[in-house]
Amino acid sequence: MKGLTNKVVFITGGSRGIGAAIANRFAAAGSTVIFTYAKSSHRAMEQEEKLKSFGVKAMAIQVDSADSVALQTAISNTIDQFGPIDILVNNAGIYPSGDFADITLEAFDEVMNINVKAVFTASHAVVKKMAEGGRIISIGSNLADITVSDDSILYSMSKSALQGFTKGLARAMGPKKITVNLVQPGPIDTEMNPSDTPWADFLRSRMALPEYGTGDDIAGLVVFLASSEGKYITGTTLTIDGGMNA
Ligand code: NDP
Repeated sequence: MKGLTNKVVFITGGSRGIGAAIANRFAAAGSTVIFTYAKSSHRAMEQEEKLKSFGVKAMAIQVDSADSVALQTAISNTIDQFGPIDILVNNAGIYPSGDFADITLEAFDEVMNINVKAVFTASHAVVKKMAEGGRIISIGSNLADITVSDDSILYSMSKSALQGFTKGLARAMGPKKITVNLVQPGPIDTEMNPSDTPWADFLRSRMALPEYGTGDDIAGLVVFLASSEGKYITGTTLTIDGGMNA
């Protein structure tokens, strides 16, 4: 992919799953990759070593996306150490589910802090020093556009907030030639959504291509948007869901 060598990429939630697949693609393309994680220190260290094996600089940072000040500080420290961030990937997210009547205000705050506020916080922290040609790519969900069960209300609500944010920020960043886009995966085989459960069987029954995607499927789209070939794509939502929303 063109135009990714020596770019500084910051990915939230890169220790495993989709975020790790995205990190691998950027490292393979020659980018410096800094990623955050919340809890899985051992896996984050393994992932950092894997990225370095591509011959690039890489660093894992433990920072809870729910902690806005810590996230701002991590980004500020990254800029001091590696230079301005060229590409931000807002990937970290959680999937709460349950009956509407049982949702607590604490659960509401947690999902909004991680899935929404952290996207705002990280984007806000990078744009001040982001150069022309920069990229902001957030990972939403196809469940922002459809609901297939009655127990993912908070999740759908949080991911649909990213649609409005993406459109508005794309307009604000256009004069600086920074693009802002939203990628909405469908079912992807990760620890958040394993492909070998009854729920997975149900999701497959809703899809045009009745199979789960991989983190690498999503990573391919993300690096395309980040590359020089993606320079005219901004303010849009790209759903990559095996036709589940078709
Ligand atoms: P996983 O649960 O497999 O991985 C989540 C990653 O995010 C891990 O690296 C985890 O770190 C990190 N993370 C979670 N919470 C926090 C936090 N509070 N602060 C910092 N990092 C955190 O999820 P996926 O890879 O499946 O999902 C990635 C994104 O894609 C999410 O935004 C999700 O909503 C979205 N998505 C996923 C779909 C799927 O089917 N898998 C479908 C549609 C969207 P740690 O290892 O330390 O816990």
